[in-house]
Amino acid sequence: MSILDTKIEFLKGVGPKRAVLLNQEFSIFNFYDLLTFFPFRYIDRSKYYRVNQIRTFDTDIQMIGIVKAKREVGVGKKRRLIVSFLDGTGTVSLIFFKRIKWLNSYVQINQKYLIFGRPKKYAGDISFVHPEMELLGNNTKRKKYTLYPVYHTTEKLTKLGLNSKGISKLTEELLSTVKQGLLENLSESIVHKYCFLNRKDSFLEIHFPSNNNNLTSAISRFKFEELFFLQLTLLKQKSLRCQQVKSYVFKKVGYNFNTFYNKCLDFALTNAQKRVISEIRNDMLTGFQMNRLLQGDVGSGKTVVAIMIMLLACDNNYQTCLMAPTEILANQHYNNIMKFSNVLGLNVALLTSKTNTAEKSNILSDLKANLINMIIGTHALIQDNVVFANLGLVVIDEQHKFGVSQRAKLWKNQNASPHVLVMTATPIPRTLAMTAYGDLDVSVIDELPPSRKEVKTVHKYDKEINEVFKFIYKELQKKRQVYIVYPLIEESKVLDYKNLLDGYQNIQKIFGEKGFCISMIHGKLDKETKELEMNRFIKNQTQILVATTVIEVGVDVPNATTMVIFNAEKFGLSQLHQLRGRVGRGAQSSYCYLITSNKLTISAKTRLKAMIESNDGFHISEIDLKLRGPGDILGTRQSGLLNLKISNLIQDQDILTTARKEAQVLLNYDFNFSNIDNIGIRKFFLKYHQELLKWGTVS
Ligand code: ADP
Ligand code: MG
Repeated sequence: MSILDTKIEFLKGVGPKRAVLLNQEFSIFNFYDLLTFFPFRYIDRSKYYRVNQIRTFDTDIQMIGIVKAKREVGVGKKRRLIVSFLDGTGTVSLIFFKRIKWLNSYVQINQKYLIFGRPKKYAGDISFVHPEMELLGNNTKRKKYTLYPVYHTTEKLTKLGLNSKGISKLTEELLSTVKQGLLENLSESIVHKYCFLNRKDSFLEIHFPSNNNNLTSAISRFKFEELFFLQLTLLKQKSLRCQQVKSYVFKKVGYNFNTFYNKCLDFALTNAQKRVISEIRNDMLTGFQMNRLLQGDVGSGKTVVAIMIMLLACDNNYQTCLMAPTEILANQHYNNIMKFSNVLGLNVALLTSKTNTAEKSNILSDLKANLINMIIGTHALIQDNVVFANLGLVVIDEQHKFGVSQRAKLWKNQNASPHVLVMTATPIPRTLAMTAYGDLDVSVIDELPPSRKEVKTVHKYDKEINEVFKFIYKELQKKRQVYIVYPLIEESKVLDYKNLLDGYQNIQKIFGEKGFCISMIHGKLDKETKELEMNRFIKNQTQILVATTVIEVGVDVPNATTMVIFNAEKFGLSQLHQLRGRVGRGAQSSYCYLITSNKLTISAKTRLKAMIESNDGFHISEIDLKLRGPGDILGTRQSGLLNLKISNLIQDQDILTTARKEAQVLLNYDFNFSNIDNIGIRKFFLKYHQELLKWGTVS
């Protein structure tokens, strides 16, 4: 046990009461936790402002000046002390509500003071409320102020004296107590290569910076350190998995694959699709299980990649399955492949919760008897009674809709582990993907089919809705189809349904009279109705589809050219992008109308702006990540790992890339950190990261 494991309670100045609150408010349990409770910003007190230089009103600044006048106004609770303070370029007011008596004697007319606080502008005048004041006098030697740490705190902690300053005091105490315990945890070669400060100095500098350079250096060291150990964990996890899990080798490129490629495809694959297919093929030649994430923006053509890979599995005499998150999607995938059933030599089945009992029992026994080559379905595929004869490949579409354990159920009854390909249309920056899915290999389709056009995106307010209806009418006359989406925040909320149903009636009134047919789907409809309505739209028997976000993922109707989203301010950015991805799939120009009320929050405005300015899913997701943080977007899967104290996966992508590279280099030559130079890494890893290895793989 090291001194850093000491309970926080035992730090001088803490005690039981404060300890409980530090536990509760910030999960600070021991010395190490406090040591790594880093300031979130610094106040630069190396700079002095003049009155005529004051521009910003959101940070604390300091200035030197002379007190020209002071007066007390008001009585009782309204009593205030107002001080005029000037510096030759102008005058500001200092306002005090508390400790007036004491201050009145401390503040002397015509004396020189240093003040520190946040300026406010009111009716053209600049004032400071309760600034810190220090008498400089004529020959008093001034303290040398530099960078002051600011720590997060809470109301409860502040009540116990732990405001930012209080925390800083504790940290000071802590640093002098544990100095000797701050051992290096990087190798000398890394410290040297990146010119890092050593670990002990880095702790001192990050909490009490002596200057800007050292602070910057300490911060980048800790960021690197954090991301480096994170990557070590993930890469170790990955290679342990690769070493352990054997899987099938798909050597043959046979009849199904070739026939599909030569006869069924009515377009040329994009280079990105070709590259990804070959990446996947290579995985399936190694003899170890593939665990690959396929990322691609909406409409980038992931399905065809999945189908070709599945055909490859069939060519090698293995069964394959494709799991989709919704009934509608499963049907769509099934119909896609069935279009070619006459030329392909395959037995394909569809299994959803809607499949009737007799049919289902046939499918299940055929699966077991290896009479079915390919099965497509929904969650129904992960029920206990689904048993494969020789499942070789699993493809999971829109993987973010499934939990980790759900996926693993697919092959629980198998002897060997099948290859796994998960697909997602929530593109995230590659560096982030490597981290969030660090145990998966990542392939990216970063190119849209050449025929794709940008979806023109327009923001309209509710009151402009008639313009939008006019536009819809024009598109309908051109024989195109239209989606109209209403938000459904919670499927159970009655009010939301009212919106949807009112909307539907309105649309029915306006466009029904003109001879157009309208479908409606939402979560409360039973499966048959949902499918019927969807199919009517797919077959162009209805021209307008009024829906909730059930159409968010995957649906592919190329003749639909316009997407109208009501209450667009209520949708998240990636959801809006997904919805927009339903149009722009055919050769025609496509449009997306975002309809909102007049009242928009700043965040809503940012989202709308991003949608209007960009069609690029990667760009959109970066903005979304900045707005919401990775946890919300990626789900909780790796949340234990992504509990980062100082680095930011979006802003620190460069450091992340470097850290990953160094981690890989290290693991390649010294997997168990047994080299003498890596002893610090080893100790730290065993202590803080060994546990996290258990976080396990996808399977
Ligand atoms: P997503 O990646 O969003 O799942 P899909 O796989 O549904 O996208 O593909 C969208 C549409 O693009 C489909 O109609 C598909 O047939 C078509 N498509 C796929 N690849 C190409 C290509 N290389 N060239 C032209 N169209 C393509
Ligand atoms: Mg898809």
